[in-house]
Amino acid sequence: MKKYNFSAGPAILPEEVMQEASKAVVDFEGIGLSILEISHRSKEFQAVMDEAQALAKELLGLSDKHEVLFLQGGASTQFAMTAMNFLGENERAGYVDTGSWSTKAIKEAKRYGETLILASSKENNFNHIPKGYDVPSDLKYLHITSNNTIFGTEYHELPDTSVPIVADMSSNIFSKSIDINRYGMIYAGAQKNMGPAGTTLVIIDKNFLDKQSREVPTMFDYNTHVGKQSMFNTPPVFAIYVSMLTMRWVKANGGVEGVQKLNKTKAELLYKTIDESQLFFNPVATEDRSLMNVTFLLKDNSMEEAFLTKATAAGCSGVKGHRSVGGFRASIYNAMGIEGVEVLCETIKSFDSANA
Ligand SMILES: *Cc1c(COP(=O)(O)O)cnc(C)c1O
Repeated sequence: MKKYNFSAGPAILPEEVMQEASKAVVDFEGIGLSILEISHRSKEFQAVMDEAQALAKELLGLSDKHEVLFLQGGASTQFAMTAMNFLGENERAGYVDTGSWSTKAIKEAKRYGETLILASSKENNFNHIPKGYDVPSDLKYLHITSNNTIFGTEYHELPDTSVPIVADMSSNIFSKSIDINRYGMIYAGAQKNMGPAGTTLVIIDKNFLDKQSREVPTMFDYNTHVGKQSMFNTPPVFAIYVSMLTMRWVKANGGVEGVQKLNKTKAELLYKTIDESQLFFNPVATEDRSLMNVTFLLKDNSMEEAFLTKATAAGCSGVKGHRSVGGFRASIYNAMGIEGVEVLCETIKSFDSANA
């Protein structure tokens, strides 16, 4: 039976991408060797790296002033690496606390320098994106988590500031078009919306990189990886290859504008179904609802097990909510087709009418 994968991450990838990747594991482009066993210095892999960088640039509308890196260590390493490189002595950075991932980023930044928490939605269990706070103009950068994977909130408008924004876009990279000029840096772990686990996309504006203000170990210095095109050491070859295939797929599906349209349609359908139900509700402020991770709860949580059983029987996998929110979460990343969302909506509706 076909399964619809609503897992938050590692997450769904396009069927075509997995088909192509599986062939490359056996014989990469007919060269008689596997993608898993060729040198990262081979011309074959160099072409993969070049194309991955070019596609990231094309999809996000980057210019020559942007560097594109594929690093290791996950988005979690970026929490420390951003501050380690950019938060120098006598400098201050601003952070907005919108959930577990932001909180972790703040914890790391505090090790390196003055870290201002400009706003937080913690008191409301992170059910909205804070707005209307002041951003001091002397900040080195303002850090935001553009989509909160666990709590199901997303920035639909950026904070009003001219301070360079550093954004953790792990769970909504390539899901919509962005105003790239507002960002000093963007990072995203691949395993939510870009590829398999194992690599992290980092985009840095060269002007921002010039303001790197600390002496740091070689592997944690962005300049090291910029200078060596992400190949100072052995890069995560397979994760980059599959991410490249996924970016090709995004391009073939109308680019970020194309997938954005479908993402909106999918999210609207699911939120509407939840809103119209008797038994379920979405805990997030309407204007901050995520298009990628849709959280929903039962008013009577004693029915949770029964709904999960029904969802599983309908082929919906990975809808159990994160333990800090409870209930359910459907991650509807780029690769989730409308059909999967329709099946989930039907499941919600029929559970609702049978039990309300
Ligand atoms: C999953 C996630 C992370 C952590 O990513 P790792 O690659 O596991 O370190 C960080 N930020 C956000 C928004 C995430 O969704």
